[in-house]
Amino acid sequence: MTAAAESIVVLGGRFARELEELAVPWAAEEAPDPNLLVLNGPLAAELGLDPAYLGSEEGVRFLVGNHVPEGATPVAQAYAGHQFGGYSPLLGDGRALLLGELEDARGLLRDLHLKGSGRTPFARAGDGRAVVGPMLREYVVSEAMHALGIPTTRSLAVVATGRQVRRDDMLPGAVLARVAGSHLRVGSFQYARATENMELLRRLADHAISRHYPDAAAAENPYLALYRAVVAAQASLVAQWMLVGFVHGVMNTDNMAISGETIDYGPCAFIDAFNPSAVYSSIDVGGRYAYANQPVMAEWNLARLAEAMLPLIDEDQEAAVPLAVEALGGFRRHYSAAWSGGMAAKLGLAAGKPETAEAAEVSDLVDGVTGILKDGPVDYTLFFRNLAKAARGDSRPVRGMVMDLGAYDAWAERWQKLGPDAGLMDRTNPAYIPRNHLVEEALSAATGGDLAPLHRLLAAVTAPYSERPGLERYAEGAPEDFGTYMTFCGT
Ligand code: AMP
Ligand code: MG
Repeated sequence: MTAAAESIVVLGGRFARELEELAVPWAAEEAPDPNLLVLNGPLAAELGLDPAYLGSEEGVRFLVGNHVPEGATPVAQAYAGHQFGGYSPLLGDGRALLLGELEDARGLLRDLHLKGSGRTPFARAGDGRAVVGPMLREYVVSEAMHALGIPTTRSLAVVATGRQVRRDDMLPGAVLARVAGSHLRVGSFQYARATENMELLRRLADHAISRHYPDAAAAENPYLALYRAVVAAQASLVAQWMLVGFVHGVMNTDNMAISGETIDYGPCAFIDAFNPSAVYSSIDVGGRYAYANQPVMAEWNLARLAEAMLPLIDEDQEAAVPLAVEALGGFRRHYSAAWSGGMAAKLGLAAGKPETAEAAEVSDLVDGVTGILKDGPVDYTLFFRNLAKAARGDSRPVRGMVMDLGAYDAWAERWQKLGPDAGLMDRTNPAYIPRNHLVEEALSAATGGDLAPLHRLLAAVTAPYSERPGLERYAEGAPEDFGTYMTFCGT
């Protein structure tokens, strides 16, 4: 270990220091033969990390937690959570570690976190490990979400550990290095609340305010302001998921970040055909986290956050409840505004001044388009891309997709009258998303040792709005023989 290499990474331990009741100092398990599969150069640069160092032998050991920079204090975080509606008082990082915080180019603290780094005291029956396919799925999908402009944790690297891991079959093990504004979750507040240590709960809220919502500190009731800010951030986030057709898959309260970033990509997927009841997780048998249910579930999770925060909102619980209820009521307002404004932009229209005839017409057209989408198996992403062509005068591609041409033509006549902006549509509607059949193709090739399809897919989805020659197959819908897509937990 050289002095130069040591000086490259400076990891802070603010979470470990300020919230030691939620942090168990821990070490990653030894990776027998670590091999860097993919490294995010631009993200490394943003974090002040040298990609050449990260690719070195010591750098790769750093990325699996086996080389700990001097002064760093890796911890497993404790949290609770409602999983599919049932409460678990103690979950925590069973197979993950927070290595520490880095200061990024904008001066913001970012967590550097490992997933798949071995058993921790929170592992319960789990093996503490992760495998190559699902870690690469998180890498691809989170980087695609970032490129789409949707708040998300980022992926810095995936390293194969050189260990075979038992799942249904034996699969190659991997560690994902993930970067986040923080890993504070709704479940962190549930855990702190359950300790009945009000000073801890307050310290957690202060930490969240300082890292994510500094304006709340100046409010008359900072904790109510924090809660309102999280409600608004989540409403905006879930609206953005809905607008691109993203299904998170496991919206448990331990997988909802206080920062408003999308977190914990497990059995997630983008819809192909527009289907409100789309579910991709093999364990979500009741459809709790189906596409169209996501706003309702986000609101449900935020109600759990309110319960955890009640003693902070007002010492008098009878006074706290109506304040929390009123703040949670903001979810629907924020969500509706974000959804309608986003849908109008997808149609190339401005939402219009509220309560004007034009706004009413736009809102009607938004309802109309979802009706057209529901009517047939219409590829959601391609529909809007083709609709931009119609805005430019070529209706053939979009008319070739819809079932009820009469209904479409009547709708389109009204839509065209408002003068849709095709440029806005191209900047709003992605051509390339991580389509399920492409993700599966890339992951199975990578699991077999061929990383070329993964890199081609990444190149497409990390610049999603500009259509480029040679990438035609990445813009097409799923092949008819692709069938029903399911991803699995226990990843
Ligand atoms: P997730 O569904 O990935 O959000 O995980 C839910 C909980 O299960 C968290 O507490 C994880 O740390 C834990 N967990 C998931 N997989 C494993 C594993 N292979 N070993 C240990 N803990 C795990
Ligand atoms: Mg989780």
